[in-house]
Amino acid sequence: MKIIRNYISGELRSAESGAWIDSVNPATGEIYSQLPDSDQTDIHLAVAAAKAAFPEWSSLQAEARSNFLLKIADAIEDNLESLAVAESIDNGKPLTAARTLEIPRAAKSFRFFATAILHESSEAHSAGNEMLNYTLRQPIGVVGSISPWNLPLYLLSWKIAPALAAGNCVVAKPSELTPMTAYMLAQLCIDAGLPGGVLNIIQGTGIKAGAPLVEHSDVKAITFTGGTKTGATIARTTASTFKKTSLELGGKNPTIIFADCDYEKALSTSIRAAFANQGEICLCGSRIYIEESIFDRFSADFAKNTKALVVGDPLDDSTDLGALISNDHLEKVLHHVQIAREEGGSVLCGGDRISVEGRCAGGYFMRPTVITNLPTQCTTNQEEIFGPVVTLNPFKTESEVVKYANATKYGLSASVWTSDVHCAHRLAAVLEAGVVWINCWMERDLRTPFGGVKHSGVGREGGWEALRFFTETKNVCLAIS
Ligand code: NDP
Repeated sequence: MKIIRNYISGELRSAESGAWIDSVNPATGEIYSQLPDSDQTDIHLAVAAAKAAFPEWSSLQAEARSNFLLKIADAIEDNLESLAVAESIDNGKPLTAARTLEIPRAAKSFRFFATAILHESSEAHSAGNEMLNYTLRQPIGVVGSISPWNLPLYLLSWKIAPALAAGNCVVAKPSELTPMTAYMLAQLCIDAGLPGGVLNIIQGTGIKAGAPLVEHSDVKAITFTGGTKTGATIARTTASTFKKTSLELGGKNPTIIFADCDYEKALSTSIRAAFANQGEICLCGSRIYIEESIFDRFSADFAKNTKALVVGDPLDDSTDLGALISNDHLEKVLHHVQIAREEGGSVLCGGDRISVEGRCAGGYFMRPTVITNLPTQCTTNQEEIFGPVVTLNPFKTESEVVKYANATKYGLSASVWTSDVHCAHRLAAVLEAGVVWINCWMERDLRTPFGGVKHSGVGREGGWEALRFFTETKNVCLAIS
C-alpha cells in the first residue's frame, strides 16, 4: 500500500485528524494507495504556511523564482517515466498518453512560465511634462488551486506554475481520485529546494478540503478547473468575498466536418478528439456534425475505425482506451447511453461495459460508443457525458450547423474541418467557444488564451492572461512638475 501525504511548509505530513481515504486503481478495481482525508485544520495550516512564505517569495527577483521553476521542470523531465506510470495507475489512462502528452506538458508549463516571467513588462502613459502614469502588476498573495482528475499533473501545473512565477504562494487541492502525481511533485519540489510554504498541496475531498480553501479569508484568489456545477458553487462563495476567480468548466464541444475537408485527416482526428483519454477531456469533440453529402460514408468509416480501437490494460502500449476513472463514473456514462436509446438514438457501436482479461478483470472499462439519429435538443446532445460517447449528426448548410453547434449551454471549444478558408474564418467568428481549431484538434501553444464562454467558464488561462490573473494591477500617477 502506497501512502500519500500532504505537503505543508516544505514537509510531508499526514492529515491532522489522522484520517485516510483509500485510492483505487481504476484498471483493476483494487485499492493501491491511501491519501490524507484532510479538512479545514490542514487547510488552515497550509494557508498559514503560504502566508508566511509570501513576503520573501514575492520579493525575490523574477530570475530567482524562474530558476526554482526551471529546476522543477527539469525534475519532472528526469522522472518522466515514474510520473507517467503513476498517472496511468491513478487515472486508468493509457501509459503512452501520460508518457507522450501529459507529463511532458506538465514540465513544459513550468518551463514556459519560468521563462515568461523574465520577459514581462508593464505599461507607462506619459502626459507631456505634467504626469507620468505607470502600471504595477503585483502578486496577489495566497492563491487556492483546485483541479480535477482527468489530466491531474498537467492541469495542476498549468495553474501553479503561473501563480508561483508571478510571485504568489499556493495552496493546491488536487482531486481525491488522482492524488499520486501531485504527491510526487511535492517530493520533487523538496528536492529542488523550493522554500517551505511557497507551494502547499492538501489532499482530500472537495467538501472537506476544497470548500474550506475557497472560503478561507487569507486566500485572495481561486483558480478552479472542474465541473460546471462545482464551479457554480465556488463562484457563489467567491462572489460574496470578492475573490478573484478563474473557472475552467465543462464542455460539449462540436466537431464540424464539411464535405470539402481532408477526409482521412478529419476522420482520424475526430475519432481521437472523441475518445482520447476515454473521452474524459473537457475539450473532447462529443457532438460531430457532418455535411449531409458525406454523412453515410463518414458515419460508416467512423464506426468501423472506432470498433478497431483497443480497450485494455492501460500499461500495455497497444491500448487506445484505458479504464474510466471510477465505477460510479462508468455507471453514469452507461446511464447516458441508456438515455440516448430512450431518446431514439441508434447505437452504431459500443454502448456496453466490457471485461478485460487478466490483472484488469475488475476494472472499469467500456467500449467507445457512437450514436446517431438524435435531435440537437435531446439530453444526449446537451449534457456533458465526459466519457467515450459521441453522437454523429447530419447538416445541410453552414448557417444550420452554426445553429446546432451553438445550441448548448456550453462554449469551451470547437473543431472545424474544411478546405474553404473563408468558411473556416466565418465559422470561427460566430461559434460560441473560447477556442476554435481549424483542421486540427487540441493543438496548444502555451502563449495563447485558453478558456470557455457561457457555462464553460469565466476567465482565461495561458500566456499573459494567466500572469495577469495572478497579479493585481495598480496604476501609479506621478506629477512631474
Ligand atoms: P469536479 O467539479 O467534481 O471536481 C473538480 C475539483 O473540485 C476536485 O478537486 C474536487 O474534489 C473539487 N471539489 C468538488 N466539490 C467542491 C467544493 N464544493 N468546493 C471546492 N472544491 C470542490 O470535477 P471532476 O473532478 O469530476 O472533473 C471533471 C470535470 O472537469 C468535467 O466537467 C470537465 O469538463 C471539467 N474540466 C474542465 C476543463 C477546462 O479546462 N475547462 C479541463 C478538465 C476538466 P473531489 O475530487 O474530492 O470531488
